[in-house]
Amino acid sequence: MSNENKKRVALYTLGCKVNQDETEAIEGLFKDRNYEIVSFENRADVYIINTCTVTHLADRKSRQFIRRAINTNPNALIVVTGCYAQTSADELEKIPGVDLIIGTSGREKIVDVIEEHQKVNMATTFVSDIRKAKDFEELPVDRLIHKTRAYLKVQEGCEQFCTYCIIPYSRGPFRSRSLDNCINEAGRLVDAGFKEIVLTGIHLGAYGIYDEKLSLFDLCKNLLDKTDIKRLRLSSIEPTEINDEIIELMKNDSRFCRHLHIPLQSGDNKILKLMNRPYDAEQFQQLVTKVKQEVPGASITTDFIVGFPGEDDESFANSVELIEKVGFSDIHVFKYSPRKGTPASKYPDQVEASIKEKRSKIISDLATRGFVNFASQFINQTVEVLVEQDVKGICEGHTDNYLPVKFKGKIDKGQIVKVKIKNLEKGFLSGELI
Ligand code: SF4
Repeated sequence: MSNENKKRVALYTLGCKVNQDETEAIEGLFKDRNYEIVSFENRADVYIINTCTVTHLADRKSRQFIRRAINTNPNALIVVTGCYAQTSADELEKIPGVDLIIGTSGREKIVDVIEEHQKVNMATTFVSDIRKAKDFEELPVDRLIHKTRAYLKVQEGCEQFCTYCIIPYSRGPFRSRSLDNCINEAGRLVDAGFKEIVLTGIHLGAYGIYDEKLSLFDLCKNLLDKTDIKRLRLSSIEPTEINDEIIELMKNDSRFCRHLHIPLQSGDNKILKLMNRPYDAEQFQQLVTKVKQEVPGASITTDFIVGFPGEDDESFANSVELIEKVGFSDIHVFKYSPRKGTPASKYPDQVEASIKEKRSKIISDLATRGFVNFASQFINQTVEVLVEQDVKGICEGHTDNYLPVKFKGKIDKGQIVKVKIKNLEKGFLSGELI
């Protein structure tokens, strides 16, 4: 079929790596059915907006992109999916021009659903009760979309119910991809040329939780033993789920990236309790100290929420103190935003926007300092870099411990090369190819 006769589909993703991974998988389903994929700014026959609802801002951005698609082609089919669609279908139904609302399940049949819908041509909502979801939905990633780093979703759902978080309501209970399926999918990604695989999930540390013979460690060990993977990375893991086996594996197998993204959220015990986070500041610090001692060069990054209800000056000062002691190499800062239906949205002592702003700036400055402290240790050292892009003769990529590195050279994307680090510049290390 020539491109002129093909139907055109444009996709847009908001939010986390899990959403990005799912959009890639959905893109692959459309390609398999001979659709042409076009960029979101272009005129398409079908627009898919994969939404996020983690904050108010995410809801607003999701609505903006829906409206943008409707404006670009008012005659196109507008399909809204993802977390915002799952939790707030009623809000989306009020936007004129939205044709289909599909929550966070049933997307393996999205092309069929769309083609069926075009015959009936009536706005429809497909949002099932996610609390009853039992199976992990298989959405194989189209392995040719990126050539360097692949995201492999192995886990779905969360049952932790942190009091600020809407995710358990949008993603449902814990479900895990079967071990065989993970190994097969990772093998396909390796065969397609990917050097690095990042394991993703809504609550990755809960992988295999309902199977006593299976854990995240077992999954990592099997992937390293049974595929020719060059690098394996965890996207994010809760502090209570990092055990000695995982630390040992990181210490002994250089393919297992020395990088842990461990959400802290607050460094104050009173706030951690109010958040329903199952650890305290001392436990968090002990864990990081242990990882850093056992795995030299390990990079620890985190998420932090400023302005959670009840966060007074003293609580914030405790957090700052903990962050300084721990020494994160990066911090993703979020300003607390009440989500309808979560316990914290009804808590007293909500924090003023201006204070959140001020605290957010303080944490961002700590993040910058943390990066400088961590990265500067690597000046004059030789590191291995996975080349992700070449911009006018300057190659860019990351080390296994997730340091961004730039160097002059002509290296194909996806190669892992050795670089001698010479300088620390603004936000990255620069060096010479060896
Ligand atoms: S662990 Fe907490 S913050 Fe993370 S998805 Fe689950 S409820 Fe949300």
